[in-house]
Amino acid sequence: MNNIFNYPKQELINILEKHGKKAFLATQIYEWLYDKKEYNPSNFANIKKENREFLINNFDFSFIKIEKVEEDIDAKKFLFRLLDGQKIEAVLMYHDYGKSICVSSQVGCNMGCRFCESGRLKKVRDLQTYEMVEQIILVSDYIKERIDSVVIMGIGEPFDNYDNVMNFIKIINDPKALAIGARHITVSTCGIVPKIKEFTSFPLQVNLAISLHAPSDEIRKKIMPIANAYKIEEIMCALDYYYAKTNRRITIEYIMLKDINDSKECANMLASLIKGKNMYVNLIPYNETNNIDYKASDKGQIDLFFNILKQKGIDVTVRRRFGANISAACGQLRSKEM
Ligand code: SF4
Repeated sequence: MNNIFNYPKQELINILEKHGKKAFLATQIYEWLYDKKEYNPSNFANIKKENREFLINNFDFSFIKIEKVEEDIDAKKFLFRLLDGQKIEAVLMYHDYGKSICVSSQVGCNMGCRFCESGRLKKVRDLQTYEMVEQIILVSDYIKERIDSVVIMGIGEPFDNYDNVMNFIKIINDPKALAIGARHITVSTCGIVPKIKEFTSFPLQVNLAISLHAPSDEIRKKIMPIANAYKIEEIMCALDYYYAKTNRRITIEYIMLKDINDSKECANMLASLIKGKNMYVNLIPYNETNNIDYKASDKGQIDLFFNILKQKGIDVTVRRRFGANISAACGQLRSKEM
């Protein structure tokens, strides 16, 4: 049986109509689930008994479970147990402008980025849409507050689970579901070129971030195996195409790894690569983990890198470090638990 949280509204309507039900039933279901937060269909009081029974017999209403929470002043990290016993995680971050959550899209990841705990553990399977939606519902219920923005940048490569992730975005964006504005939703990919092109025709104005992490193919290949499949030049072409079609600014994510990609030369190369494009660079201080040898760049080096980009007219920020006292690196909590 398919979980009820797998369905964007229109898909739910299609299924209901196929069974001879009215489209309005989908509106009622959405109201119970997302507005009244009632997850037991037996309690959907304004739905007639016959339809309640139909829902019970045709859809699964079960939830993944929060197994552990690590809390810091500016972040909370959640470890979830899925119905098949697999584990994933999400991080809630408190910014000046609101609360954002970074969700997982797969159990493990096949992209194998050398600096990443999730890549080290390999993909077990894709997440279904409901397993992404429920990460947000459970965290929001846990903190008893609304979440303002969502980044799909946790465990997994979202474009390697494209259809489920797109359905997830449709659901969380739906004003009658979680109502998170498209501008507050960001998909982050390590650069799967055909999917970047496909994503240009996705109807919602969500943000795209590219985990570039190196200014040359040579350096990129050392830290990201995906660089063997797609050259930076191909990624840039796909991004130009994306920008031409959507007119949306693109974020370049750049994780700062000591003596790997943080030199002055790297900063200059990165600046030349994106000069004149509507992109901005987000420099990410690395969260070191015990299992991986890479070290975080020193603050002085990050400042130098930042200043070179600034002087070259590049729009750049340094991401604030969240959760210094918890397992803040992507996949770290899950890997610890395993
Ligand atoms: S950084 Fe992202 S794409 Fe790379 S291995 Fe980790 S989860 Fe996968």
